Amino acid sequence: MARLSIKGAEAYFKDNKTVIKTKNRIDIISVIHSGLLYVVNINRIQPTAFTAQSKQKPINFATWHRHLSHAGIETICQIITENLVDGLNVYGELSISSLCEDCIYGKHTAHLYNDSRPREKEVLECIYIDIWGPSQVQSASSILYFMIIIDRFSSYWTVTFLKSKSAEIILKVFKGFHIEAECQTRKRLKQVRLDMGREWYNTM
Ligand SMILES: [Zn+2]
Repeated sequence: MARLSIKGAEAYFKDNKTVIKTKNRIDIISVIHSGLLYVVNINRIQPTAFTAQSKQKPINFATWHRHLSHAGIETICQIITENLVDGLNVYGELSISSLCEDCIYGKHTAHLYNDSRPREKEVLECIYIDIWGPSQVQSASSILYFMIIIDRFSSYWTVTFLKSKSAEIILKVFKGFHIEAECQTRKRLKQVRLDMGREWYNTM
């Protein structure tokens, strides 16, 4: 009874019946006097009420960021400050104390070549080299990477599948292409371009 009292419950006595209500006036216990005995009937509160209560529990900003599909900080701040969503309660600062690793991987992109220089006039004036990998699944012949070489003038491309992207292997593939391309075209290779994305790190 003391706990019910602290929670704000109230008891009513009328005729042969005693009722205890929550402060929201929901019956939780009703007692019918049967002679000198009290028959207690406890009305269980629907589980949905507990779910509704748990939604109200404040959680930190980083957790909301993950719950909301890694929405931007400004978007979540707007939702909170303008009170756009019921039950979106936050405790602590409206920021992410450390960088969100999933966002870094998910939103990272290598920039495209953004130049306005004139088109090449002949083959081997400029080639691009790029590496893809590692593949999540290794091929039957242990291939994890591929290296693509594109001639910017002709768009001719070659692809070489690699077990490793070590500097020696990359250089060997490039030298093979270089010699063959110059022999076949009788032109000199003038420029090589790389995007220097993450796939190049620790290899060359
Ligand atoms: Zn994130």
